This record gives sequence, structure tokens and C-alpha cells, in this order.
Amino acid sequence: MKRTGFLFDERYLLHKTGPYHPEVPERLTAILEGITQGGLIEKLVPIPAAPADLLWITSVHTAEYVKRFDAACRSGKQMFDSPDNQMCAQTYETALLAVGGILEACRQVMEGRLDNAFCAVRPPGHHAEVSRAMGFCYFNNVAIAARYLQKQFGLARVGIVDFDVHHGNGTQHIFEDDPTVYYYSIHQHPSFAYPGTGREFEYGRGDGYGYTKNSPVLPGQGDEDYQRLLERDLFPAFAEFRPEAIIVSAGFDGHRDDDMSDTKLSTEFYTWMMRQIMHLANTHSSGRLVSVLEGGYCLQRLPELARHHVETLLDG
Ligand SMILES: [Zn+2]
Repeated sequence: MKRTGFLFDERYLLHKTGPYHPEVPERLTAILEGITQGGLIEKLVPIPAAPADLLWITSVHTAEYVKRFDAACRSGKQMFDSPDNQMCAQTYETALLAVGGILEACRQVMEGRLDNAFCAVRPPGHHAEVSRAMGFCYFNNVAIAARYLQKQFGLARVGIVDFDVHHGNGTQHIFEDDPTVYYYSIHQHPSFAYPGTGREFEYGRGDGYGYTKNSPVLPGQGDEDYQRLLERDLFPAFAEFRPEAIIVSAGFDGHRDDDMSDTKLSTEFYTWMMRQIMHLANTHSSGRLVSVLEGGYCLQRLPELARHHVETLLDG
């Protein structure tokens, strides 16, 4: 059994998005319930969260953006940059705390105290651009984690696997001209899904050309289509890139019961997919893997999805 860390903090529930928003605190309560009911919580190492140092936030975002976000929050605004980004007075602090917890997870994995970790955080991150909030996201959690692994621990190559059903436009843009971070995303086709990026021909730019890979999937498709694309696109790409650590943007909104997409993945497929990603980490990355929650809005399915996700991490 692996030493698997679990990041959760009651304060992640304090970011409130109003009455008609799918990105609600109950998502995390459902995840916690799934892990607790499965008796898994005793097998996991709790990861403490403290607000991230701004030094790390500004390794990805502009200082001006961070200030603007903080000021908007303090001024009592209920929306930031986009109607999708509903917020409250605690949103900025919660976003800092999400990044802080994820960086602690990365640190413990890099220092060998943990083999891997699952970070059940809010708000999510992969749509956040360098200087703009988008799609429920404020700070790009996984992008900041990748920069932290590079700057603090000297990793030369970091691999990001994003299986949220939406393309991680922010993460792609942050690393698109950077050959040291490989961004792979599998998602519902941008012609039929938010945010409208992540087409097959988006390979990166300049020095980063060839270090971005997108596998768009048409609406209505599911397990077999995903499996085929992962085998065709992700496995050979990471075998060649050999990331020294893998960060997962773990979104569960491609589940067939999740209203946020027309993608038809089964619970069993999520387990299979995570096993494959673990296998990539074991083969190329000394097992180092940090999984970070993105989307996933079906409160009935999140408990089982989270339970299987964590069981897979424990099984190694
Ligand atoms: Zn999503």
C-alpha cells in the first residue's frame, strides 16, 4: 500500500457561490463522505493547509491580478471577471488556502514523506488565466504546483494530465511556449463544450511546440472512445517526455450522470483511467503524483468517484 496524502480543510467550504451555482461546498462534503464511509480516511495521511505565499501565486499570475482579486473580494463584489465566477468575502482567502494545501502536498511527495496525494480543494483552477478568472476558477492550482515543483525542487520536466470534461484553457496557455511542462488534456470537443479551446491541432508554440496535446471527444461518447484516445495520445507522449512528477487535474464532470457535459463515462472507467495514470507515474516519475480536484458536480456520484480515486492512489 502506498502512503497517500489527503488534503481537505473545512475552510474550503467557506467559498460560497450563491443559490444557482453548481460549484457548491456540498461537492466537497460529498467527497469527504465517500472517503469516510469507505473506511479509507484512516489509511490516508492528512495534509494541513495554510495560505500560499504570494511568491508562488505570482509565479503564474500577475501581481496586478492578485491585487485586483483581493480588492474585489474585500469590496464585497459578488462576481469577478465573469458571471461564472460568483464569489463572497472569503473567496480570496479560500483560493490562497487551496494553493497552500496543494503546495504542501507537493512538498511532502517530493521529500518522500508521501508517495502521492489527492487534494480535495475549492475553488478549482484549470480555467484561470494569468490575469483573468474564468469558469469557477481564480488561481490556477495545478499550474502553480508545477512551477513550485520546478523552482523549489529543481524538476526539469513536469507532466500535467487533465481529465476534467472541459479543456483547461488556463493551464494550456500558461505553459504553451514552455517545453519543461507537458500539458495533456482529454475533454468534450470545444465545438460542443466550454470554454471552446483544446482542439487537436493546438500543440503549443515556439519552444513549447509539441509539449501540449489535446484529445477532444465528441458529445455522447464514453469509455471506449476515451480509452482509445488515451492509448493513442497520452501513453506514448509521456513515455517520450518522462515527467519527473505528474500532476492530475481531476475533474469528474464527464460522468454519464453529471449534467455539466454530454460525455458518458462510467464510474469504472474513471478507476481504469486513474490506474493507467498511476502506471505512467510508476514507470516514468518514481510514482510521484499529486491529484487536484477540478470539476465534478453530480453530488450523488461524487462519493463513489472519490472513493475509487483514492483507493487507486493507495493501491499504487
Ligand atoms: Zn469541468
